[in-house]
Amino acid sequence: MDHYFERLKNGTLKLHALEQELPPLEAVKVRRTYLETEQGISLARIGSFTMDIDRAVKRNIENMIGAVQIPVGVAGPLTVKGEFAQGSFYLPIATTEGALVASVNRGCTAISKAGGADVRILRDRMTRAPVFATRDVGHAKEVVDWVTQHQEELRKTAESTTSHGRFLGCTPYVTGTSVYFRFEFDTKDAMGMNMVTIASERLSEVIEAGTGARLVAVSGNMCTDKKPAAINLIEGRGKTVVAGIALSADLVREVFKTESATLAEVNYRKNLLGSARAGSLGFNAQAANVVAAVYLACGQDAAHVVEGSSCITSAELRGDDVYIAVTLPALQVGTVGGGTGLDTQKECLSLLGVSGGGDPPGSHAKKFAEIIACGVLAGELSLLGALGARHLARAHQALGRG
Ligand code: NAP
Repeated sequence: MDHYFERLKNGTLKLHALEQELPPLEAVKVRRTYLETEQGISLARIGSFTMDIDRAVKRNIENMIGAVQIPVGVAGPLTVKGEFAQGSFYLPIATTEGALVASVNRGCTAISKAGGADVRILRDRMTRAPVFATRDVGHAKEVVDWVTQHQEELRKTAESTTSHGRFLGCTPYVTGTSVYFRFEFDTKDAMGMNMVTIASERLSEVIEAGTGARLVAVSGNMCTDKKPAAINLIEGRGKTVVAGIALSADLVREVFKTESATLAEVNYRKNLLGSARAGSLGFNAQAANVVAAVYLACGQDAAHVVEGSSCITSAELRGDDVYIAVTLPALQVGTVGGGTGLDTQKECLSLLGVSGGGDPPGSHAKKFAEIIACGVLAGELSLLGALGARHLARAHQALGRG
């Protein structure tokens, strides 16, 4: 150990290069112990983990020192009536926010007592939008025309980079002399960002050769990845999912201790009017809570909570009953690739029956998206109910404070 410490200290060995000389577990231990010694602190808990890190240090993390732990709870059973997810599920929720699991659980109870939530995927496409520089606006138009006329060639090029991905087309956008092509792909069970970036790089080379346009960046932000953006709300990114449930007046009273009209009024004045007045891109109560917690549990790219949690919650009174729905335009999920292969995350995906590739490919990611959307619906019902019955502060006081 001292041998490595000395070289780390005098700069002849870089902290990130330890894996070149040591097996992963040893490298992680030396790095962590070096930091402990340098900083005079203990990282013992971070150093205590169960996952097999051989894959992690190659694909998921650099400069690894250990793992932080997030408690995981389950909400459910949650009855789902989708095209891919059918039956009862226990939703894994990784969070440090007391009351969240209890809240979603209450929504699950209402959904299951009402016979299950209907859920449908309306669109399914991952996007990447490179930006090209052109000579002038005339050239910009020529580039757009060339790409429009060479779709079949572009499809073949894109699909030569992946055995699973399918090229679905592209939409051009021009701003002055900058040209953006928003490429769209069916990425099956992969969330797909690496897959579509690799394909987009190849496509960009073909476009440069065919048009004389110059690639500036393989992502020109019209994608739009991990930034709040209207384009994702309107056109969708990843999966566009809707989930809805009809609740009888009796059920609303039994589970939420309030009235259907109260749920609808809270939704109208808070989720719709309040959000509009605030200029919010999200018209919901707590979609991000559920999306973030399930993403963390199931090895999703956590930064996709930005788009994944954009959600419109709607409530329609039907006599004394109420129909509540959530619309998620840009839910990005995968059951292969990224963090989905890490041991604990894989177990959470298994709990939902969606770990790994589906048969047919794509069916696991779709099932997963349907379950998450119903989980979001459960969270919305519960928070609307708690606000309607004025129980919110009380629940947090009881469950969130120690
Ligand atoms: P990935 O781990 O890079 O690759 C997944 C690969 O799994 C696919 O490309 C595919 O190989 C293969 N595969 C096997 N079975 C499959 C199935 N049933 N369905 C689909 N693919 C299957 O994962 P990714 O989803 O493309 O990318 C996710 C990662 O990208 C995350 O770690 C995320 O953090 C990161 N990310 C990257 C960028 C970027 O700009 N590069 C941006 C944001 C996030 P074939 O293609 O050969 O068929």
